[in-house]
Amino acid sequence: MSKRDFYEVLGVDKTANEQEIKKAYRKLAMKYHPDRNPDDPQAEEKFKEASLAYEVLSDNKKRGAYDKMGHAAFEQGMGGGGFSGFGDIFGDLFGGRGGGASFSADDIFNSFFGGGGRGQSRQRRGSDLRYVLELTLEEAVSGVNKEITFTAPAPCNSCDGKGTKNPDDVVTCTTCGGHGAVRIQQGFFAVQQTCPHCGGSGKQIKNPCGDCHGSGIQEKSRTLDVTIPAGVDNGDRIRLSGEGEAIQNGESGDLFVEIRVKNHDKFVRNGADLHLDVPISFADAALGREVEVPTLDGRISLRIPEGTQSHKVFRIKGKGVTPVRTSMKGDLLCRVIVETPMNLTNEQKDLLRQLQASMGEHQQSDKKKSFFDKLKDEVKDMFD
Ligand SMILES: [Zn+2]
Ligand SMILES: [Zn+2]
Repeated sequence: MSKRDFYEVLGVDKTANEQEIKKAYRKLAMKYHPDRNPDDPQAEEKFKEASLAYEVLSDNKKRGAYDKMGHAAFEQGMGGGGFSGFGDIFGDLFGGRGGGASFSADDIFNSFFGGGGRGQSRQRRGSDLRYVLELTLEEAVSGVNKEITFTAPAPCNSCDGKGTKNPDDVVTCTTCGGHGAVRIQQGFFAVQQTCPHCGGSGKQIKNPCGDCHGSGIQEKSRTLDVTIPAGVDNGDRIRLSGEGEAIQNGESGDLFVEIRVKNHDKFVRNGADLHLDVPISFADAALGREVEVPTLDGRISLRIPEGTQSHKVFRIKGKGVTPVRTSMKGDLLCRVIVETPMNLTNEQKDLLRQLQASMGEHQQSDKKKSFFDKLKDEVKDMFD
């Protein structure tokens, strides 16, 4: 018994989505509904045919099975076509429930095709690609336009991605009859495989394009302008729709431009905040001083109060970064690093010794002991 292709019955593409299928069916149902065509067996036949096609194509699981196996997937329940023998095997596997009779077609589809949702992934699509783009901190913070060049599978120029220069040379695959899949019987099991001849497209090309050997796809170098928004950070990704891998008879994948920010020689970014180390002399730390510190937009002055300890952090509001996903500008955190003087002259050493001596006297009269003095006392106590 030969049946018309379900897609043909509804007059839709193999790639039609749910909406398109529903719309097509509704149109046919209105036209051929028996109520509107009393005593017209032909209309009734058309109505039944459309209803059956809709029943299958509107259900992802059934549509997936149909795409793989054609009408064989539905003939005479599971006794026919590719499912011969499955009922028994399932019966055995699931504790001798006595053959396939207790399984609905849906059970079989679930078991065989690994659950629902399969139909949706039937649409062939190229892979997403990733391009790692290195930026300076300044570029990432203020945004930038970049030109990127990369090589990716793209539709062949010579044949416009069709695999042949003459559209008449594209014919239905003789191996799979256009279904894109073939059945191989292995003992009890009928295994579905992508048609080795046409690679699943259901089509074959009589006179393939010489440049792409009929694949319709060529590795090509591509240059794109990418607009990087201000505030991006490491790991942020910018999606360029349809710029990924191109495939024949399917939509292209996307290209993801992934941001890598190069290390800066002064600043370390942490979200919205920037961190900066500010080296100062130990005299400046003791006496206090106004110092100039860099920001991403020019230098500003920072007041170091007298008696500042090393590693103290000063926060300068609003001199950080505005991350791409928020509008809140962060701060600049300046960590003071007190530098110990090196390569002193004898004269300078003498001056320091004098200072040390004077500080020692000073501290003895001071009730506040330094951390090291307290530690010395504790160690002394231990041996007394
Ligand atoms: Zn084939
Ligand atoms: Zn070509």
